[in-house]
Parts: sequence; C-alpha cells; structure tokens
Amino acid sequence: MLTEEIQQIRKESDKDFSSVEDVRKLEELRIKYLSRNGLLAQLFDGLKDVPKEEKPSVGKDLNELRKSLTEKYNSLKSSLDDKADQSKDEIDLTLPGTKRVIGSKHIIIQTLDEIKSIFKGMGFSVFEGPELESDYNNFGALNFPHDHPARDMQDTFFVSKDFLLRTHTSPVQVRIMNKYKPPVRAIMPGLAYRNEAINARSYCVFHQVEGLYVDTDVTFAELKGTLVSFAKQFYMDDLKYRFRPSFFPFTEPSAEMDITCFICKGQGCKICKKTGWLEILGCGMVDPNVFKNVGYDSEKYTGYAFGMGIERIALLKYGIDDIRRFFENDLRFLKQF
Ligand SMILES: [Zn+2]
Repeated sequence: MLTEEIQQIRKESDKDFSSVEDVRKLEELRIKYLSRNGLLAQLFDGLKDVPKEEKPSVGKDLNELRKSLTEKYNSLKSSLDDKADQSKDEIDLTLPGTKRVIGSKHIIIQTLDEIKSIFKGMGFSVFEGPELESDYNNFGALNFPHDHPARDMQDTFFVSKDFLLRTHTSPVQVRIMNKYKPPVRAIMPGLAYRNEAINARSYCVFHQVEGLYVDTDVTFAELKGTLVSFAKQFYMDDLKYRFRPSFFPFTEPSAEMDITCFICKGQGCKICKKTGWLEILGCGMVDPNVFKNVGYDSEKYTGYAFGMGIERIALLKYGIDDIRRFFENDLRFLKQF
C-alpha cells in the first residue's frame, strides 16, 4: 500500500513541479512535499508499519523519491533566482525619467562669449593676461606717469609698492606689444579690480573686454567701422551712433561711443536718463608714447584701442537693476538666463 502511495505522489509531484512558474508557487510545493509535516515525511512515517521483509525495497523507493523531489526543487529554485536577478538589471523604459540638474554659464560669461565670437568673426584673436600686474604694465607703459592726476581716475588695490590688482585689462595690450611685432589684432577679456565703494552701480571687481589693432595706416575711420559693426551685431541692426570726444592717457584722440538706447529705441527712458542715448564703450588711437614704451616705431605704425565693461553691458541688455546680483551667486537670479 505504501508502495502505491509512493507511486501516486511521484506522479502528482511530477505534474506539480512541471507547472511551477514563480518562487511563490515553488515555496508552496516545498511545504506540500518536503517540509517537516509534508507528504514525504508522512510516507517516511508510514515506513514503520511496513512488514520487515519489504522495508529495504520500500525504503529505497522512498529515498529515491526524496532525492528526486529535492533535486527538482533545488534546480527550479536556482533558475527562478537567476531570472529574478536578471530582471533587476533590466531598465524599465516605461518609468518616468529622473531629472538631472545641469548648471549653466553665468550671464557674464555668456555675454563675454557673444562679444568674443563677434570680434573673432572680424579677425581678432583672443589674449588673456594675469590679474596681478606690475605698476609699470598697468600704468607706466600706458602713459600714466607717476604722480599724474590720471591715476586718480582709477582707485587701485596695491599689493606692494610695485604690484597691484590690474585696474583694467589694458596691461595685456602692453604684454602683446612687447611680445609681437605688428600687425597685431586682438581682444583681451578678463577681470579688473577697483577700490571703489560697492553699490548698485559699481563693484570692486568687474569684467572688461579691450581690443587692440596695430598696423601700418590704421585710421580712426577703421576704428569707427569696427565698433559700429560690433554694436549692430551685438545690440540691434537698426541703431544710430555717435562718438563724443573724451580723455584716456593711452589714446589720442580719445572718444566715447554712444548708441541709440535699445530699451526705448531712442524715445527717452529711465535707463538712458531721457536722452535716448547709451554710452557703451571708450576708444581712441593708441598714443605714440605707448608705442615708444613697447618699442614700436610710431612713425611707421598706427593703431586703435577700445574697451568696454561687461557688467554694464549686461545690466543694460537684460534690464538688471543692481550690479551686485552678478556676484552674489543667487541661483534664483542666475537660472533666469
Ligand atoms: Zn532709453
């Protein structure tokens, strides 16, 4: 009788195990057959009632059944576990994506990039120089003699008697001319420092872009042409401009360039103080004294230079009311650009 039961359970278990599809079902079968109170244990219990002479053969059948069930269970268990591991690695394309926060270029750098790209298009190279400069490169070579009142135009952070934080990017012009013979045509973007009271309109550090072109027969008309072309590309195509006489120690003659206020289109507004004009840069023909200081022959060469403050340009272009916002690193502000 036990032999028949063994046969029956073998058949039943064959059917059960062949239909297993998941770990939960397999666990049910383990409990049904292989647990301490499972069918197999019950069969082994029945062994004590088997006549003595049949015990060896029935016992052998039982052991074989146990072996076969255990093997089936183990093999199914490991293949189902493998499947579970694999599905963990699969990417579920139906899930919504995780949004990554990506930084962006600072508005000042964006403005600088735009200016650089316009001047590169007109044949200018880009040069940079150190922010810690000698007094000579920052002032002396640029025709600011010692004790000259022009030095008072720029409040300076001195690091020592002869070194300072550059007050403009103009010393890079000196470095270029000391290194290269004409023709040179370059712009020089970078940081400059002034020891000024900090308020909505001025800050102790700011960005400048300067430009320099030296060759034989460079004229003021070429300077105008270059700057007007720049202004039209950078601000707007349909603009009026004017050049007003000004003074810089390193250029002669010197001028400041105004363009139609692009906020009010020349009608007059708060930004342009009702004049309809905005000053965008300073410029002029390189002073012969500067050429003398860098060893250029001022009889043979002429050149022009110009410079503009980037923060001022960005303030105007984007209608920002306070220069300090550029340096405060407030993400709510920076993310608007
Ligand atoms: Zn205006």
